[in-house]
Amino acid sequence: MTERLYYKDSHLAVFDAVVVSCEKIKNGYAVVLDKTAFFPEGGGQLGDTGYLNDIKVFDTHEKNNEVLHYTESEIIVGTVVAGRIDWDRRFRFMQNHSGEHIVSGIINKVTGFNNVGFHLGDEVVTIDFDGEIDAETLAEIELQANEAVYKNVNINTYFPKPEELCNFNYRSKLDITENVRIVEVEGYDTCACCAPHVNKTGEIGIIKILDTMRHRGGVRINMACGYRALDDYNKKYSNIAAISASLSAKQHETAAAVERVKKELSDLKLTCSALRRELIAFKAAELVETQGNMIIFEDSLEPADLRELVNVGVTKCNGVCAAFTGNDKTGYSYVIGSNIIDLRKASKEINSAIEGRGGGQSGMIQGSCKAAKAVIEEYFASFGI
Ligand SMILES: [Zn+2]
Repeated sequence: MTERLYYKDSHLAVFDAVVVSCEKIKNGYAVVLDKTAFFPEGGGQLGDTGYLNDIKVFDTHEKNNEVLHYTESEIIVGTVVAGRIDWDRRFRFMQNHSGEHIVSGIINKVTGFNNVGFHLGDEVVTIDFDGEIDAETLAEIELQANEAVYKNVNINTYFPKPEELCNFNYRSKLDITENVRIVEVEGYDTCACCAPHVNKTGEIGIIKILDTMRHRGGVRINMACGYRALDDYNKKYSNIAAISASLSAKQHETAAAVERVKKELSDLKLTCSALRRELIAFKAAELVETQGNMIIFEDSLEPADLRELVNVGVTKCNGVCAAFTGNDKTGYSYVIGSNIIDLRKASKEINSAIEGRGGGQSGMIQGSCKAAKAVIEEYFASFGI
């Protein structure tokens, strides 16, 4: 069985080992070593990545009590390899996993709720609890968790004998009593866990609860610790700095500034729509009585505006009133109305002539078309006559 070096020293990033077996698998090879610092996926934490000599280890899993290093190429059994784990990634995992234990322990003490789901991925950390927690309580829990960091207390691990287990009052109790590993954050939490942790809470850095959502009768918490929290801060800082510069507002006053801009925008929309209505009324009043079909082209009107125009247009002609907005490049939106011709019946022929699609009622159809202005004008000059 592989000797698990990460249990003795969670900060061991390089080590030498001998290849015990190497099996071909679907997407590479599964290498077993006599000893390893690579942590295999488990307890909600992803497996380590890194190198054996210069061969990439893209994942580590546990199977039948063995640690399988998934490599891109074969390594001959008996080879002595220099193992190197991706320490930056692993340390970030440890910061977030140890931080999760602290938060889960405090939540358990404060609310009595249990951690019923934990996922520590490459980007996010989520923890699920079996009860809802209000924002005020969560803020207090976050503060206590960060106090645990500032106190820089020890994180100890134990492999108690089955008869000694009753001496530990710990979370995540499983039915098993053999090989139970206990992780203790002094004064804050005791929990069964198989993953490597930081040695002292000071290594975790800031513990930040990012957001929460209701989940299966409880709450799901998204959080970030240490370097990940710093990355998150940096991303948010550059975002807020850009918003602040763009709105000429102090960074801590950007939310109020955005509200002001939204209000201005909504007022402008109201003014704009009132002006449009006036404009359309003027345009409609200017339509001249026409014998036959009336064809209208406007640069940039809304379909609703076109309908208004056509409603008036049909009363001033004795064919169809066809109104278009757009241009030859992007195509046109159209509304066509008539008091005389059944446009529902004629729509297929019209669409075919102007490369359009659309439909409607017998008195009015609307849609879009790709034909050029000249083609449309020529078509409607003789349509229905
Ligand atoms: Zn754990």
